[in-house]
Amino acid sequence: MKWRSHISIGKAIADALELPPGERKAFLEGIVEPDRHKERVTGPGYSYRVSHHHPSRRVVMLHVWMARRSFLRNNSYLGYRHLGMALHYIQDKSTSKGFLGMSHDRREEALAELEVPAEAIERGFRKYLSSPEFVSRSLKLTRPEKDIHQIMAQASFRSAAVAAAITDLRRPSGLEQKLRALHRSHLLVYVPLAIGSLAIGISLSLAWWNPIPLATGTVISLIVLVRDRPYRQLGKVALWHGLKMH
Ligand SMILES: [Zn+2]
Repeated sequence: MKWRSHISIGKAIADALELPPGERKAFLEGIVEPDRHKERVTGPGYSYRVSHHHPSRRVVMLHVWMARRSFLRNNSYLGYRHLGMALHYIQDKSTSKGFLGMSHDRREEALAELEVPAEAIERGFRKYLSSPEFVSRSLKLTRPEKDIHQIMAQASFRSAAVAAAITDLRRPSGLEQKLRALHRSHLLVYVPLAIGSLAIGISLSLAWWNPIPLATGTVISLIVLVRDRPYRQLGKVALWHGLKMH
């Protein structure tokens, strides 16, 4: 997608969010940033270039979390910059590359002439949930389209919905109590279950001088802990709302 298209979707979203000039600038800079410098992801012992047209969901979610954390810490400039970068990838992902370079260029040219559909932006700001699960699902649902109107409609709608989800800092009522209750049931049910199966494994292994029960017990206790999915999901929701789970 051309810069012009990224910028025009960005401006429509900045208008909807009523961004002040500084935040607006940071956001629009972020939205073209991935095309300016090829991004590198670095971690302990690795460093690689982000594939521009097929960035992994993990890379996009990294920007989503950076944005969210920055907003929670009142660093709105950094927040809008990362939000812009995340949206850039969503918009690129809406564009199918096509088979011939020529047709791709022509389509991008035609796409850049299109106006951002206000209806798609408004719908995005209505149909969202402020949760990491919603954002991750939105990324998964973003498909490469061939028709320029479809590309524009999808890129605008998904960008607006994700922007709304990340910038909405309202905390659902009763969330803290719910987290506490879940944490308690996790401690009361899942952890003893895991320890129990591990203990049985150890005692059987000692009785028979056989490592198999211990190995089985360890696997079972790991499964028990990993199966406690609602708990892990809620951990992410807690983080999303700037809460700690304990
Ligand atoms: Zn790009």
